[in-house]
Amino acid sequence: MSTERTFAIIKPDAMRAGFTGRMLARIEEHGFILRAMRMVHLSKRDAEGFYAVHRERPFFSSLTDFMSSGPCVVMCLEAPDAIKKWRTAMGATDPAKADAGTMRKDFGASIENNATHGSDAPETAAFELGYFFRGLEF
Ligand code: GDP
Repeated sequence: MSTERTFAIIKPDAMRAGFTGRMLARIEEHGFILRAMRMVHLSKRDAEGFYAVHRERPFFSSLTDFMSSGPCVVMCLEAPDAIKKWRTAMGATDPAKADAGTMRKDFGASIENNATHGSDAPETAAFELGYFFRGLEF
């Protein structure tokens, strides 16, 4: 398995709830290397650009309101098979359906306020990392 990078977010709900430190510790306990990290407060327009693939979905407006509702932490995580590994660590989109011990089960509140984001494929990771990091951070 080759080393891979993925893009992750600690979403505004989790930051508001005071889970940031615990989530970062969990990320390190899972064996990810934090290659880059910063805190940002997205505008509605930033959130719409990031989630452009979802613009036809009924929850797009609500999702982009939520993602611009407060600061979040954006990260580049590195590990062997990082994309799949982080998706597994996050758990299902809906915290109610996520496996025990996953980030969304432990820190998420609802299908929208679900604490974390993770890229779902190498092309998505490349787009999402490029959306937030210019390269100097690496
Ligand atoms: P993910 O890859 O597991 O994050 O899920 P998706 O790419 O399908 O959706 C992106 C984000 O939109 C999710 O993480 C949720 O925050 C939100 N979302 C997904 N499905 C729903 C839904 O049915 N209703 C609402 N309100 N939000 C949703």
